Amino acid sequence: MFTQRLNRAREKMAADGVDVLLLSVGADLPYFCGYEAMPLERITMLVVPRDGDATLVVPALEASRVVRRPEVFAVRPWSETEDPIALIATLMGSASSAAVGDQMWSGFLVDLMSARPQTEFRRASSITGGIRSVKDAAEIDRLRAASRAVDAIAERLQSGEIPLIGRTEAEVSAELGRQIIDEGHDRVNFAIVAAGENAASPHHEAGSRVIAEGEALLCDFGGTMIGDDGVGYCSDITRCVWVGPRPDREYLEAYAVLHEAQAAAVTAATVGTPAQDVDRASRERIAAAGFGSYFVHRTGHGIGVEAHEEPYIVEGNTAPLVAGNAFSVEPGIYILDRWGMRLEDIVVATEAGPESLNIVDHHLAVVEA
Ligand code: ZN
Ligand code: ZN
Ligand code: ZN
Repeated sequence: MFTQRLNRAREKMAADGVDVLLLSVGADLPYFCGYEAMPLERITMLVVPRDGDATLVVPALEASRVVRRPEVFAVRPWSETEDPIALIATLMGSASSAAVGDQMWSGFLVDLMSARPQTEFRRASSITGGIRSVKDAAEIDRLRAASRAVDAIAERLQSGEIPLIGRTEAEVSAELGRQIIDEGHDRVNFAIVAAGENAASPHHEAGSRVIAEGEALLCDFGGTMIGDDGVGYCSDITRCVWVGPRPDREYLEAYAVLHEAQAAAVTAATVGTPAQDVDRASRERIAAAGFGSYFVHRTGHGIGVEAHEEPYIVEGNTAPLVAGNAFSVEPGIYILDRWGMRLEDIVVATEAGPESLNIVDHHLAVVEA
């Protein structure tokens, strides 16, 4: 699998005139070799020459963490008194063009640029993004497993099994985090819990706000499930619930618009459809109901080894969806100081049509707990 992925990267490097691929901190590294770099001041780097064997340069004290895959890459531990930048610069050989991991620390890149003043650097995502955005059947199975795991949590939220009234957002967020792990994830990526007017901020940080009857609660949460091969796949779901017996009419009406808009975008997400048309499908409906200026973000983002990756479901992305693209469909409506709502599923474009990996109820649940 890793060899295949690296070969695909080498093909793209050849097409783009890139001589060497340099992967460090970030999701590219585990995707291509099953190892995740520690985000520390000692550099880790997979050096992938277009026409040569890959070498993982790793701090000596972390070398025992590496699952050896000699058919994929050699391991070159560096000791405390060695200069790893010089070592990497040497492994780059005669490369005149390098693609470097987007999330590699800029400090390392600055050092590399002065060690290799003649080399032109570009983002690794120009090589890796398109490869990663097309999932094979095994990857989709793993995304489905992660999605089903957060579905189970959303179901408990909707059925009132997770107490809400009188608890703070932070307490509910911590509970969602524990359940994300209990459901088989290895890592919690986020657990947004936003009550009442706080939900008008799409990326609200759960805080000391106490959840009360007579308001809506937005929960957006997900994690990463890491497989035996060292590669992790992400979940990401948003559901809103109404806390207390009688949902506010204005909120209910807006939610009906959101629900329809989200379903329309999922339906639109067929193979061959430009990504921006999926965005338009939800945006047109929300705009028609008068909430256009309150839908302040794109409709979705790709998901895989990273919670946000290509393809982005946004106006301006004219690239047609291809079978194996996996992405969120998550329109929202946000009225400052009053309320906010978002409805999010992970969807896969398949030859048989869009498949929603999240299947838990999409209606506004009324929770009296
Ligand atoms: Zn977000
Ligand atoms: Zn989300
Ligand atoms: Zn999302």
